[in-house]
Amino acid sequence: MSMLEAAVTETSEPSPEIVTRFAPSPSGHLHLGHAYSALFAWRLANRPGGNFVLRIEDIDGGRNKAEFEDAIYEDLAWLGISWAEPVMRQSERGAAYQAALDQLSDMGLLYPCFCTRKDILAEINGSAGAPHSHSAYGPIYPGICRGVADSERTSRIDAGTPYALRLDVTKALEIAGDLTWHERTQGEQQVLAALLGDVVLARKDIATSYHLAVTIDDAAQGVTLVTRGVDLFDSTHVHRLLQDLLGLDTPEWHHTPLLTDPSGKRLAKRDNPLTLREMRANGVSGDAIWAQAIQSLARQATAVEGI
Ligand code: GLU
Repeated sequence: MSMLEAAVTETSEPSPEIVTRFAPSPSGHLHLGHAYSALFAWRLANRPGGNFVLRIEDIDGGRNKAEFEDAIYEDLAWLGISWAEPVMRQSERGAAYQAALDQLSDMGLLYPCFCTRKDILAEINGSAGAPHSHSAYGPIYPGICRGVADSERTSRIDAGTPYALRLDVTKALEIAGDLTWHERTQGEQQVLAALLGDVVLARKDIATSYHLAVTIDDAAQGVTLVTRGVDLFDSTHVHRLLQDLLGLDTPEWHHTPLLTDPSGKRLAKRDNPLTLREMRANGVSGDAIWAQAIQSLARQATAVEGI
């Protein structure tokens, strides 16, 4: 499937009871890329038997602001999107995350990790150019704390050393066996969770992580088709593994292309692209936004595929 086809195939045979979601973090104002993601998911579910849910991914208290959450509701309404209430807010889901951590811990699949980022990089750099030391998201954890003795773990924890909880992916894959997941544009995928290494499931500062929270919450909201940017494709391997370990239902996935600016650079909040509210102030109508996103993807497809 070409990039442009993947971007617009929202009409291809949805299951009769499709549930899609949009899961923004309130760490800035939404831009055209978010509008595309939200509209893509909403258009898929906006049919009889369909349901579109919203989730505010606000686990990172330091980066999120209430004003951005309010702005999300306002911008989505301007786009003509309606969602099922109640909206799920991850900051209110601590008990569900803890229950999942307890379950994985009882299975012997979690270990405390005391490493700092510096420790991890030093270990990787010291191990003679380890060829598979990086994933799409950064360095792969080299397993420093995996083999720490229980007695030492206890004494470090008792001494107040901050720690994260990591998933022992090798052990987890032994329990889960061969797993697959279905990507609507790319077909059946074999789970390759080792690609990301022993991921963090509870951060030092927050008693959960993106991987854990998103997996539990998609299941809790009954999502049957997870639509999100292709930058999160590799994460899906971990989410599928977690679903299996926790006995959760498995949805399908559709990873969408990422919108870029005219120079070909990916739209990212940190670069302050034009926000939807700025577009609105400039007189753009909410109804015109889908067409703008598709035009932008078409420009990109032309550049990438030379058509
Ligand atoms: N909260 C994530 C973001 O804003 C989306 C995560 C997901 O769709 O799985 O990028």
